[in-house]
Amino acid sequence: MKVLEGKSVFSGIAIGKISILQKVDASVKRVHVENPEEEVKRVEAAREQAVAQLQKLYDKALQEVGESGAAIFEVHQMMLDDDDYLDSIHNIIRTESVNAEYAVATTGDNFSSMFAQMDDDYMKARAADVKDISDRLVRVLSGHGDGALEVSEPVIVVAEDLAPSETVQMDKSKVLAFVTRKGSSNSHTAILARTMNIPALINIEYDESMDGKMAVVDGKSGNLIVGPDAETLKKYEDMRADELAQRAMLKELKGKETVTKSGRKLHLYANIGSTGDVANVLANDAEGIGLFRSEFVYLEKEDYPTEEEQFQVYKTVAQNMAGKKVIIRTLDIGADKQIDYFNMAHEENPAMGYRAIRICLDRPEVFKTQLRALFRASMFGNISIMYPMIISVTEVKQIKAIVAEVKAELKEQGIPFRDDVEQGIMIETPAAVMISDLLAKEVDFFSIGTNDLTQYTLAIDRQNAKLDNIYDSHHEAVLRMIQMVVDNAHKEGIWAGICGELGADTTLTEKFVEMGLDELSVSPTFVLPVRKIVREMK
Ligand code: PEP
Ligand code: MG
Repeated sequence: MKVLEGKSVFSGIAIGKISILQKVDASVKRVHVENPEEEVKRVEAAREQAVAQLQKLYDKALQEVGESGAAIFEVHQMMLDDDDYLDSIHNIIRTESVNAEYAVATTGDNFSSMFAQMDDDYMKARAADVKDISDRLVRVLSGHGDGALEVSEPVIVVAEDLAPSETVQMDKSKVLAFVTRKGSSNSHTAILARTMNIPALINIEYDESMDGKMAVVDGKSGNLIVGPDAETLKKYEDMRADELAQRAMLKELKGKETVTKSGRKLHLYANIGSTGDVANVLANDAEGIGLFRSEFVYLEKEDYPTEEEQFQVYKTVAQNMAGKKVIIRTLDIGADKQIDYFNMAHEENPAMGYRAIRICLDRPEVFKTQLRALFRASMFGNISIMYPMIISVTEVKQIKAIVAEVKAELKEQGIPFRDDVEQGIMIETPAAVMISDLLAKEVDFFSIGTNDLTQYTLAIDRQNAKLDNIYDSHHEAVLRMIQMVVDNAHKEGIWAGICGELGADTTLTEKFVEMGLDELSVSPTFVLPVRKIVREMK
């Protein structure tokens, strides 16, 4: 028995034979050509064929793993259209009088290493995508088909690295797990594995002799156990059986209401950070989105996202949720979420500094751009708006004044929006808790941000790993605050929920229902476990 340590990118247990994927030898020869323009034409023809292959892959992925999983093939199609990429290929062909295959492979290598050297993890992960599209072009040019990898029986697929196109082309029923030597948690292959619900490990130093051997993928510890002994095998078989039973049971809860036996209903929503997460929300049967952290729309960009860019994002989420509630939180940057182009000065204590709604009220032009996008998008679904880090009634009044201006401007410009968009605030400061009776008169709902509320109540920086053991969201002070917020909300006839991590703590679900919370918004994978507990309650 051999235990190889790696990193898990999606949990779960898989037991089966290892199949090491050998890729078709794509080594490319440099050949001198007499007529470079002919090669440029060959590249164009191959590009068109590759785009058509990707369109087919997109359609397949869309059916199997939804829009977020399929999006990568749209990105690949766009990459194949990129002027810099194509110019580089044409340039190599023309200046060196070489064959198309060589020019494509060289450009692929150059661009891929350029991406790999970038600081940003997301951009780093794009190195694999450039390599992927270049390999595809080379395969088309050299008549090697579409690169589909065949697996004949259910196996643990082990490979150097897996390109998203390879992952999605595999017959899902034949794949028990993905194990790679390379790859990152941010790579699209990892994202696809999660969306496909298949255990996946990276950083595993396998060797060829393991091909065909029995193995266990432990997606909890990140280990690959090759040739497990009888005792280990039995242990994992039991764990796998438990996991399957658990999954089947949770699956049965799909489509069911989140309601106690005595009929008390809880709204169970999910938290997201991008449009890509929506498929997961739907797959886990959340009733809506209780927190869309819109700052990720800003964090992904190099400069302020325009009103139009934001509008498209919010509209897409609203449309994909097809009338279900989508609560979008306005920009919450500062503290741990810094964005270069905001040019914020260094602060001694950023958690208590210039952040979230404070920035928005200080820079109304930024705030108004987002609000315009949100109100415009409200025409396409059931959008609510939520404001973070509130400490006073004055702030809420200032927000209302700005919202009124935005609405008046939209009206004047003849741009449609919904006038009745629900607007609420996050309760994540002790100040907001203490005046929640007054705040409740001003807004439509409260959503308690327990991550920050715990930090500010206990005076413990949530980022400080040293204090992790005393950062206690179960602290009586935090629980009493939650109760106070719920009571004050109900006195004014508005609803109150939790969107901080504590909402997914299943040891507290019963207590939350008893406390009178109307809503919980949790990471998509926690929706069904929470529903299960609520449905078992009297
Ligand atoms: C919170 O503070 O609980 C919250 C949901 O907001 P964030 O974690 O994004 O600060
Ligand atoms: Mg917060």
